Amino acid sequence: MRFDTTVLSPAELDLRAAVREFLAAELPEDRIPALGMAAEHDPAFSRKLAAAGWVGMAIPPEYGGRGRSAVDRFIVTEELLSAGAPIGAHFVADRQTAPTLLSFGTEEQRKYFLPRISAGECWFSLGMSEPDAGSDLASVRTSAKRVDGGWSINGTKVWTSGAHLNHYFAVLCRTSPANGDRHAGLSQLIVDLGSPGVKVSPIPYLNGTHSFNEVLLDDVFVPDDMVLGEVGSGWAQVTSELAYERSGPDRFLSTFNLLRYFIAEHGAEYVDDAAARVVGTLSAHFWTIRQLSLAVARALDEGRAPAVEAALVKDLGTRFEQRVIELMRTVAETEVGPGEGSIFQRLLAEAILTGPTFTLRGGTTEVLRSIAARGLTR
Ligand SMILES: Cc1cc2nc3c(=O)[nH]c(=O)nc-3n(C[C@H](O)[C@H](O)[C@H](O)COP(=O)(O)OP(=O)(O)OC[C@H]3O[C@@H](n4cnc5c(N)ncnc54)[C@H](O)[C@@H]3O)c2cc1C
Repeated sequence: MRFDTTVLSPAELDLRAAVREFLAAELPEDRIPALGMAAEHDPAFSRKLAAAGWVGMAIPPEYGGRGRSAVDRFIVTEELLSAGAPIGAHFVADRQTAPTLLSFGTEEQRKYFLPRISAGECWFSLGMSEPDAGSDLASVRTSAKRVDGGWSINGTKVWTSGAHLNHYFAVLCRTSPANGDRHAGLSQLIVDLGSPGVKVSPIPYLNGTHSFNEVLLDDVFVPDDMVLGEVGSGWAQVTSELAYERSGPDRFLSTFNLLRYFIAEHGAEYVDDAAARVVGTLSAHFWTIRQLSLAVARALDEGRAPAVEAALVKDLGTRFEQRVIELMRTVAETEVGPGEGSIFQRLLAEAILTGPTFTLRGGTTEVLRSIAARGLTR
């Protein structure tokens, strides 16, 4: 395991300043900021961000992207999440689907999807989890049968974030029997969420909002040119794809705005010693995790594959996000000054209801620790 100390260069600090300026101009001051990546779907915002050059940053220019470094992408993501910007439309396609297409997609798929993703106009969901297959993804039961010109898929996916708004999802499914090796015979197919036979139904969150869905696939036809990667290589592809989901600023910044708005709304005159200790402790933890996450981005730019480090950062980062809720809650119970109705109080209420999901999405804490432990013993 290796985390090198790193700081932002002058050019990287300039990029950060430019993004801050853009966000200050684009985002209304009186809005309620989002808590992390479960942010509002705002196609107009995604398009403007793309026009500024900050979507598709990891996509090479020949596919309509910007060919920027992982650290540049880190900087932009950190600013967007700290501002609670409405990134819901493009975020998953940009973070996850685009690198998967670059690694495994056909030239036609890259030429078709990547410029659209870079323009903030093509949005993807992730079709992995099923009612009885979450951590143990190799037990997926959704299956695809060979038909004339393509595949016919049947099955049910759950927890499919944004499927009611997005255009496509990459479905992990069984294309041939396991025959003793559960990881064999799996494939990824790109399914148009508007196809006949696709039924998307909401699974409401505890707070009543709609992000999750159940997606029923009933004899959905997928043409051969929408097979993602090799038929039968789905397991290797999905595990490599999951690495893009881990370690970025989206894994430690979900509750950053609780801290930020507490400080902004309460001001130093209201903060007693106990609250000051909480803010100080969280700020120190935040800075440490941020440095680890930045070190992973720098390692990626140096051509290393820091999968174990990424799993560790997600574990630390998501537990930090929950710790922020826990400690800010103790402060809120004794707080003086602006209370009910403040943005801090509204964000805290939302965070209490949605916080438990942070250590589940993208791989649970227990599963990530298994990955880190296996990596350490190699
Ligand atoms: C906010 C959110 C958004 C999501 N969005 C999507 C999405 O868009 N697309 C998608 O496909 N999925 C999505 N998911 C699903 C997510 O990936 C799964 O919830 C996650 O992988 C865990 O699977 P599970 O819920 O079936 O729990 P299970 O796998 O049933 O796990 C239950 C418990 O058992 C533990 N456990 C399981 N296996 C082991 C093991 N081997 N060792 C030790 N402990 C173990 C787990 O850590 C957990 O505590 C989302 C989840 C959340 C919370």
